[in-house]
Amino acid sequence: MTPVNEELSFMYSISLTAKRFTQFLCVSLLLTKSHWVSGNIQRTCSSDSCSSVDMATRTEPKGRKPKMIVFDLDYTLWPFWVDTHVDPPFQKRKSGDVVDRNGRPVKPYREVPDVLKKLKSEGYLIAVASRTSCTKEANSLIALFNWDQYFCQKEIYPGCKLTHFNKFSAQQGIAFKDMLFFDDEYRNIQDLSKVGVTCYYIDESIGVTEAVIKEGLQQYSDGILKES
Ligand SMILES: [Mg+2]
Repeated sequence: MTPVNEELSFMYSISLTAKRFTQFLCVSLLLTKSHWVSGNIQRTCSSDSCSSVDMATRTEPKGRKPKMIVFDLDYTLWPFWVDTHVDPPFQKRKSGDVVDRNGRPVKPYREVPDVLKKLKSEGYLIAVASRTSCTKEANSLIALFNWDQYFCQKEIYPGCKLTHFNKFSAQQGIAFKDMLFFDDEYRNIQDLSKVGVTCYYIDESIGVTEAVIKEGLQQYSDGILKES
């Protein structure tokens, strides 16, 4: 081989090596990029999966409804104490107004009749838990207001309302966790929330209204046993 040919052959080998090295570099770069992209996709998917799980956990209680709604009477369905603020016996006049012995009108909170009607039409079991000692008078008012059609059970007598609720649970076959309770006395809220009843504290200046029911149902749906 002449020196010229030897030089050409040497340069050809260098060129070939450089070409192969470049090819190697390109392939490596492509592989690295591919790995980086797939890694990003994996992280994104992983992140999506987590958010799906979180969302499911967060939204699980939404739409949860109570099987039974229980109301106190005094300062919850009507704005007085039946044992002291009104004077029985009660009667209904031809006009439909309910009055006490002295002819004074006896009325529930304004929105209560419509609230009871609506809850009943929506399929809720509705009950009364009162600790008044005037059981007969309270029942008389309920009858004159024409509310017996709404209540599946009434427990009206003095004492801790755990007794009343144990009777609801036994007779209706419903667990405490499936009950929503409205009452204006904090001692009752305390007693019942401890055993798993969702309790809504009623402001006696407002009583039960449609807005109150909406808030109570939301509280139940959110899994909050009682508002502090
Ligand atoms: Mg009360």
